Amino acid sequence: MHHPVPYDVIIAGAGPVGLLLACELRLAGLSVLVLEQAGTPDSQLKRLPFGMRGLSVPTIEAFDRRGLLDDIAMPQQKPSTGKDSQEKKEPRRQAGHFAGIAFDHDNIDSARWPYRLPGPAGTNMAAEMEHIEIALAARAGAMGVEIRRGLGVESLDQSDDGVTVRAGNETFHARWLVGCDGGRSTVRKAAGFEFTGTDPEFTGYSVEIEMADPDTLGQGRIYTPTGMYFQSRPGTIAMVEFDGGAFHRSQPVTPEHVQAVLRRISGTDVTVTALKLATTWTDRAYQATAYRKGRVLLAGDAAHIHSPLGGQGLNLGLGDAMNLGWKLAATIRGDAPAGLLDSYFGERHPVGAQVLDWSRAQVALMRPSPNSRALEAIIRDLIATRDGATYFAERVWGISVRYDLGRSHPLTGRSAPDFELADGTRLGERLRNGRGLFLDFDASPALQALASRWSGRMTYIASNARERLGLSALLVRPDGFAAWATDGEPDMEGAAQAVSRWFGKPE
Ligand SMILES: Cc1cc2nc3c(=O)[nH]c(=O)nc-3n(C[C@H](O)[C@H](O)[C@H](O)COP(=O)(O)OP(=O)(O)OC[C@H]3O[C@@H](n4cnc5c(N)ncnc54)[C@H](O)[C@@H]3O)c2cc1C
Repeated sequence: MHHPVPYDVIIAGAGPVGLLLACELRLAGLSVLVLEQAGTPDSQLKRLPFGMRGLSVPTIEAFDRRGLLDDIAMPQQKPSTGKDSQEKKEPRRQAGHFAGIAFDHDNIDSARWPYRLPGPAGTNMAAEMEHIEIALAARAGAMGVEIRRGLGVESLDQSDDGVTVRAGNETFHARWLVGCDGGRSTVRKAAGFEFTGTDPEFTGYSVEIEMADPDTLGQGRIYTPTGMYFQSRPGTIAMVEFDGGAFHRSQPVTPEHVQAVLRRISGTDVTVTALKLATTWTDRAYQATAYRKGRVLLAGDAAHIHSPLGGQGLNLGLGDAMNLGWKLAATIRGDAPAGLLDSYFGERHPVGAQVLDWSRAQVALMRPSPNSRALEAIIRDLIATRDGATYFAERVWGISVRYDLGRSHPLTGRSAPDFELADGTRLGERLRNGRGLFLDFDASPALQALASRWSGRMTYIASNARERLGLSALLVRPDGFAAWATDGEPDMEGAAQAVSRWFGKPE
């Protein structure tokens, strides 16, 4: 079958990244087709306990900025309102971990994050993978995104003005194709992207088992001379065996195999009586060396893979989608400034590379060797300090993300604070239509005149804010990142340059 009408964009993969990107593109008015290989989104691995995903600050903010936060939150996990980490005073609350080494809430000095304001988006939140996908698919469908399941992209051809995709017996055309088809991305391979990185040291297992002697194993995360196992609740176990990743995908996971590995790692004679669920993974850490080839782009796991150790892959991929959506939309509409689409790779590749290194550093700490145990002792000392806990919190929660957009103001390149405006609305709400914002706290006539020249592409708001953090005006991109800011009298030339850099020539 042949579909003669080209779509603006075809997205391969209805995982969380493909679905969020589809919503972003549709919000900008484009026609979007999502092709998903799996016939049904159902999978036990997307449900608790294995489907549990920790969401970072940029992800929570992104969902808030699109009005999706309530849909994504698990009923018992509604995001807290009010101030984040330092508000509640309970002794030694674990705020996160690095290779299993916990850092405490009470040690974190959030005064070092001068541009964070309290809002519905707290610092971390747990969500269920299946629930995230259902919420995003529902939003995409309601907005008019076409989703075809059971149709995996098999091959593609691209020309100067479009891409032809074959899936099943059908052929589809689009002006652009984005591969959001996961770690083993067909799009990445078919379009010839280079994918480089480091090979695995271990096979990781996530299993749900029954044991004849459940008390044999310890609870929590336990390092042993031969590996590590983590029993989060009785019978739910994650473990890593440093076999060079040899077992992963080489054979089916049987109860006998799980028992043998568990015995080797734990040094016990534990007996597995039933294997209810099992999946394996490795610490292979690879990243595409480009995120765009002609009219084909990559986002999410298709662009980068690493071990699930610090739980950052989903957050990284959703950040790609938020960064790419508005840039690709402007490119297709024809009003994108030069270099806008290339800034997707320029901004997101370094963030991805950092996450890969974060996962590699954890592997180095987990190796069953005296060297790693010695390193672990040092990290334990450092993470227990105020500087250490604050540093780890910044990295784990994603607060440290800053795009290199020039250093004219300490806020440039960072996620914009969730200002509460005079009418009670918050910045997060004002971004829900997907347009950029020019916030002018002092209602300067000169800035208003400047912003009016781009009024079709961004919203100018002259309003004071409840807490303005010393700022007098700022420019916020559609993805919520600050592109320009000033504390005092605005430098009109700098402001005009920043607006045209991100929103193109004046209308
Ligand atoms: C055990 C485990 C725990 C994790 N914990 C966390 C965590 O706490 N926090 C976190 O941020 N991340 C975590 N991750 C990582 C996270 O799940 C992934 O990074 C995330 O799912 C990537 O989303 P994606 O949309 O890019 O890819 P995927 O979720 O893999 O979705 C890709 C989609 O594309 C489809 N597809 C594949 N091939 C094709 C094709 N040829 N054509 C069309 N469709 C295709 C697939 O069926 C799938 O639906 C964890 C991962 C694992 C394995």
